[in-house]
Amino acid sequence: MSKMLTKEDLAKYPFLDQSAAFIAGYNLTLSDLTAPAYSGVVDRAVERVRRSIEGGAGAATLNLGDTETEILSYPLALALVYASGARWLVNRFATSEAKRCEELLKMEAAPKLAEIAKSSFGWKVDLEDLRLEWERLTFRLGLADYLEVAPQFHSPSWKLTNKYVDKGYVFLDTKDFSRLLAENLKLRIIRKSGEEEAKNFELPAALQPHLSGILGLLEGKKELYEDEFPEGVVDEARPPCIVAIANDLRAGKSLSHMARFAITTFMLNVGESVDGVLKLFSNVADFDEGKARYQVEHIAGMTGSRTKYAPPKCEVLRSFGLCVEPDKLCATVSHPLNYYKRRVRAGPATSAPRGEDGRRGGRKGAQGRHR
Ligand code: SF4
Repeated sequence: MSKMLTKEDLAKYPFLDQSAAFIAGYNLTLSDLTAPAYSGVVDRAVERVRRSIEGGAGAATLNLGDTETEILSYPLALALVYASGARWLVNRFATSEAKRCEELLKMEAAPKLAEIAKSSFGWKVDLEDLRLEWERLTFRLGLADYLEVAPQFHSPSWKLTNKYVDKGYVFLDTKDFSRLLAENLKLRIIRKSGEEEAKNFELPAALQPHLSGILGLLEGKKELYEDEFPEGVVDEARPPCIVAIANDLRAGKSLSHMARFAITTFMLNVGESVDGVLKLFSNVADFDEGKARYQVEHIAGMTGSRTKYAPPKCEVLRSFGLCVEPDKLCATVSHPLNYYKRRVRAGPATSAPRGEDGRRGGRKGAQGRHR
């Protein structure tokens, strides 16, 4: 174990390579964890998953009085999540663990954060003490590592143009560095779920009842599943913001980066193909299909970080002036995808038969933009 990382650290951050080495020292299989002696580990693993489904305090549940249980329960929780085969749960669990870790990471000393980044993520990072007028930047991170994670964040503050960059490094404060570490953890959990090992993973029979309990909890959240979207895009279920952007595109107007990102992510998430999205952009004067295809495929998770991006929340769209003519339903949602899901669920009253392009509903319903 690194001198800098204690057993408590491994319990706080069970994703660390050092935690994996610690677990390997026990020489246990998942089946061994079903023995009565490890019932506390199983309970804690199930609790981790349950909390990710239901939401709730993250770091507050950490029990540093029983570090072994904290460390051992993490891979078991991951096994339950992967065995569920539910992409929504993988995302939810990854987000929950990332949030839990971020809360703890923010409170750590800079050398420990750098050690975690180097030893478990292989990041090129050094400690700095750069004092600018308005901030103190403690970390110097290689640009490649920064760019692997930062594009996940939509806030303009993460753009390189808003960061202090020098000679291939970006300089960060503790808060941002902790956020990046946590987001990288989230990406790792999600990416691993797509690997053959996770896909073909079989849970020991003795753990099946726990998995059944988790699947039962998921039933109650079914309305949130991305997979619940119907086949084919239901045009009439699109929220006013997306309709307005689509209208601008059809009129050949040039759009802001955020507007392009919003419509691309929205359409991909409701089941539009990459070609279908490219078609939307084809009227724009400076349309370059090769460049656009690369960007859309990246956002679809087909290249680069392999993460499919979600559309921004309503509050983000609002701050970019893209929330236009919100209707009554808008007042009850905080995300354009929730708007769409509700309109789709509302049934045939809002979804018309498919048109020639395979879509349901027409292009009508588009409103002019009023800001
Ligand atoms: S409230 Fe949300 S869904 Fe409705 S128009 Fe505004 S951004 Fe779109």
